[in-house]
Amino acid sequence: MINIFKTSLRGELIQPGDAGYDAARRIHNGMIDKRPRLIAQCVDVADVITAVNFGRTHGLRIAVRGGGHNGPGLSLCDDGLVVDLSRMKGVRVDPGTHTVRVEPGCRWGDVDHATHAFGLAAVSGIISTTGVSGLTLGGGHGYLSRKYGLTVDNLLSVDMVLGDGRFVTASEDEHPDLFWAIRGGGGNFGIVTSFLFRLHPVDTVYAGPMLWPLEQAGEVLRWYREFLPKAPEDLFGFFAFLTVPPGPPFPESLHGKKVCGIVWCYSGPPDQAEKVFKPVREFSPPVFEYLGRMPYPTLQSMFDGLYPPGLQWYWKGDFIKELSDEAIALHMRHGSELPTPLSTMHLYPIDGAVHRVGSPDTAFSFRDCLWSQVIVGVDPDPANNERMIAWARGYWDALHPYSAGGAYVNFMMEEGDERVRATYQDNYKRLVEVKRKYDPDNIFRINQNIKPEE
Ligand SMILES: Cc1cc2nc3c(=O)[nH]c(=O)nc-3n(C[C@H](O)[C@H](O)[C@H](O)COP(=O)(O)OP(=O)(O)OC[C@H]3O[C@@H](n4cnc5c(N)ncnc54)[C@H](O)[C@@H]3O)c2cc1C
Repeated sequence: MINIFKTSLRGELIQPGDAGYDAARRIHNGMIDKRPRLIAQCVDVADVITAVNFGRTHGLRIAVRGGGHNGPGLSLCDDGLVVDLSRMKGVRVDPGTHTVRVEPGCRWGDVDHATHAFGLAAVSGIISTTGVSGLTLGGGHGYLSRKYGLTVDNLLSVDMVLGDGRFVTASEDEHPDLFWAIRGGGGNFGIVTSFLFRLHPVDTVYAGPMLWPLEQAGEVLRWYREFLPKAPEDLFGFFAFLTVPPGPPFPESLHGKKVCGIVWCYSGPPDQAEKVFKPVREFSPPVFEYLGRMPYPTLQSMFDGLYPPGLQWYWKGDFIKELSDEAIALHMRHGSELPTPLSTMHLYPIDGAVHRVGSPDTAFSFRDCLWSQVIVGVDPDPANNERMIAWARGYWDALHPYSAGGAYVNFMMEEGDERVRATYQDNYKRLVEVKRKYDPDNIFRINQNIKPEE
């Protein structure tokens, strides 16, 4: 049976014992060590249909792998079938309509590379190594979100393979209920084999980090919470606690020091940059800045080297409506206790254009929040996992009461049904209805799962 499956694929079928097995079951988070029974490395839609039909007919658990960047390792499963899309890497820019069609194995760097040649950019995240698939299906926020919305707000249509093997297109006009659900509802409804995105005229940006001493973090956060929401939407800046990396461009005097910072991205008219940054410069001189005009893909890949594949990752998120003085005091305490040099806490702005889409209009529901917060423990050495996880949980426990109640699905580990429900608020009921219609047997359940029964 497996032989027939194997020969009907144009891609490869990998099993335990095969030479490439260990490489094929490795994902970005080195903490994940799952052992699938079969890994189908698909190269086209026909392969995906074949794999889904095989998995369903043989009652296998099915996991779907896009970029493999997801924290809890939901792109793999033990003892089941992985539909691995990482070889499906086609990108086609249409400069006439300012759109790009992207296959599901692409990383954002693949898309940036293709679109930048035309002076265009897609709305993605803050790093180029993240997969297009998972980021988009969870919502997607990044450097261009205050100006152009979430990644899903720029999604025009998708092609999908459903659990029963059917192939459908979902857009505002075709299967609009499915199109609504996949814009934030994750991989719950089927496997996306092609994304069509709207692009924007973003070529170079004025961008980079500014750092301040850790002791000044309270002052920086109080200024940031007032300044950014009122700033032009051309300006994006995410706040971070971090340890200064021990190498250029950072001065030696700062190497290894815990600091706070804001990573800026200004995508407006170049001649307005000085004016927009004037209040930033007037606030307080940073101890270091690396700000300048650069191609958008340079900004997107600026931190790739810091976070290579294979590190240990543990993260927890929340959506934030308000940064109160009490919350800032707690951030100061926990943010100054970063357990390892790569651990961090980021506050990503999700205001501006994100707020112009209504919460019921897509599955992504927390449209009235100002920030998406993520507390991340990262380190190369598994020996530090316990300490790192304890820090992330302690930080999250302290701050969660000050949150809006739910978290971005792409910043969650496996945290249980209640957390998934909290993420979707009033949209959860409708997501269950769409799940019942398109995946009634919960074939796609290795994800932040929306169960067909409420
Ligand atoms: C260093 C780093 C930086 C990040 N920065 C950001 C950021 O700035 N903004 C942001 O929004 N997020 C960010 N994220 C989170 C990111 O969105 C998630 O990790 C996301 O899951 C990555 O997508 P992927 O395709 O790589 O994931 P995968 O691990 O491959 O998949 C994630 C989930 O999606 C499902 N899935 C994957 N492909 C498909 C498909 N084609 N069809 C159906 N289901 C599918 C999988 O089954 C799984 O459940 C970051 C993550 C990391 C590690």
